[in-house]
Amino acid sequence: MPALAATCALLCASSARADEFTYNPPGVLTPGSGTGRMDNTVYAPGMRFPIESAPAFANSQVWGNGGSEGPGGGQCDIENFSYPWWDNYCETRSWDMPLCPSGIGHQGQDIRAATCEKNVHWVVSAEAGTVTNIGSYSVYITADNGTRYDYLHMGSVQVSVGQDVAKGEHIGKVSNEFGGTPTSVHMHFNLRQNVQGVGTVYVPTYLSLVTSYQALIGPPVEPAQGALDDITCDTISGWAASPAYSDIAIEARLYFDGEKGDGATVGHPILADFARAECGTTGACDNGFEVGPPLSLFDGLDHAVRSYASDGTPVAPELVGSPKTMNCSFELPAGVRRKISGEEAKSAWKLSTFWDETGVSAGVLGSMTEGAALDDKPRVVVSATDASKIWIVDSGVRRAAVDVRSARAWELSPIGAEALSDAELAAIPEGAPLRPRPIVLRGPEGDLWLVDDGDVTSPQGAGAGDALGPDGDGPGADDEGCDCSTAGGARGDLRFVGLLVGLAAVVGRRARKQRAR
Ligand SMILES: [Zn+2]
Repeated sequence: MPALAATCALLCASSARADEFTYNPPGVLTPGSGTGRMDNTVYAPGMRFPIESAPAFANSQVWGNGGSEGPGGGQCDIENFSYPWWDNYCETRSWDMPLCPSGIGHQGQDIRAATCEKNVHWVVSAEAGTVTNIGSYSVYITADNGTRYDYLHMGSVQVSVGQDVAKGEHIGKVSNEFGGTPTSVHMHFNLRQNVQGVGTVYVPTYLSLVTSYQALIGPPVEPAQGALDDITCDTISGWAASPAYSDIAIEARLYFDGEKGDGATVGHPILADFARAECGTTGACDNGFEVGPPLSLFDGLDHAVRSYASDGTPVAPELVGSPKTMNCSFELPAGVRRKISGEEAKSAWKLSTFWDETGVSAGVLGSMTEGAALDDKPRVVVSATDASKIWIVDSGVRRAAVDVRSARAWELSPIGAEALSDAELAAIPEGAPLRPRPIVLRGPEGDLWLVDDGDVTSPQGAGAGDALGPDGDGPGADDEGCDCSTAGGARGDLRFVGLLVGLAAVVGRRARKQRAR
C-alpha cells in the first residue's frame, strides 16, 4: 500500500483547493480484498458527487479499520478518513457481478463523509430523476436515461417513492442503517446501467465519483488539453490528455455543425488512447485519437467539426486547431451489397446511423451485385484464454478486425461474446477480415445494405478497392484476430466496455446470495 499510495500521490493529485486529494487508480483494491476492474470509463459523466460537502473518503468498510477483515482499530479511526481513495466495486462479496474479473463483487462503492458522525452529512442526488424504490436501508433514483443511482444506509430520508428529485437535492443523511443490525457509518453508492451485450448490471462507480468529487472540490490545476490535428475523408485525428490525471485516458468530444453547450448538437466521445508517432513536444504520446468521419455527412457539403478535451470535469477546453471543415463525398467502394433486415438487425450489429450509414440512389444499388444477407444478430466469439482475440462469425467463418481502430468502428467487445476454447475456435475457419469500417447503404425505400466482400469465406478476399479504408492499412495476414486489448472506449454515443481481465472467470459463474454490502 505505501508504494502504491506514493505513486498516486504523484499521478493522481488533482486539484488546487484540495491538493491533498489523492486516489488509487480504478481497479486497485485494498490489498487482500479481491481483484478489481481496471476500467477507465466514467459511466455517469457529469453527475454530482453524492455527498453534499467535501471532504469525503471512498474506501472499504470491511477491509478498513474497524471492519471484520480489517487491520483492527475502530471505524472512526483517522485512517478511514484519509486519502487516498480506494476503489471497492469488485471487493470480495458474493453478488453476481458480470463486469468483475471474478464474476462476483460488491456492486458499488463505500464512501465515508467528512467525519464519523451519523445523521449529520447530507447525501444529495447525483442526477435528476424519480425515486423508484425505498427499502429498509436503500433509496433508488432512476434518471431519464435509465441509469439507476442507489444510495444505501442513510438516515433522515427526505424523499418518497414516485417523487421527482433534482440533481443535488437532499435525499437523506449518511448513517449506518442496515435494516436492523447497523453497519458502519457510510454511504454505499451504486450505478445500475444497461451495458451493451451484457444487460442491466451494476457498473463501476469509482471514476464517476472521482471526477464528480474533483468537480466539487475545484477544477484541476491544469485543464485538459489537446489538438484537432487533421481531418480527411478517411480520418479525424488529434490528441487529448489531462496533465492532472495523466494515468487516465480521457476523451475527445467531437461536435459536427454545432458546438458544445448549444443545446442542439450531440458531443460524440472518442477515447484518446492511441499511440502517437509524433508527440515529441507534447509528451502525450499515448493520448491520440483517430476515427473515420461520419458517413452520414458524406454529402459534398462543408461541415464544421469542433473538438473538446473532456476529462469528466466541466472544464472541457476546445482543442487547438478546432474547428476544422470536413467536405467529403461518398465514393462507393468495390464490393457486394448484403441485405440488413431492418433497424433491429442494424442495432444488433451495432451499426450507427450517424457514423456508418449513407443514403444512395436506386441506380447505385442496382449497379451492385447482391451477396448473402446478414444474419439478424451477429454471433460474436472470443478466445476463452485470450480475451483480446475476438471474431464475428459470418457465413460459417470467423472474421476479425484488421486493427484496433477497426475493432472500435465495429464496436467489437468481449463482454457478452461467446467464449470458445482453442479447439472450438479452430473448428471455425478463418474468413476475410472485416472491412476497416462498416459501410451501410440506405436505399430510397429505406432498405439497408452492408457493403462487403463477395466471398467472405476466403481469408484473402477482403477490402480490395475500399476507398474509405485507411491507407496502407488494409487486410493483412492477421490470422490471430485483432489484438484489441486497448479497445476500451467509446465511439459515437455507444460506450462499450473493453477491459479484458478475467473474462474466462466470468463465464459460467453462478449467482450466489450474500447480505453484507
Ligand atoms: Zn458497500
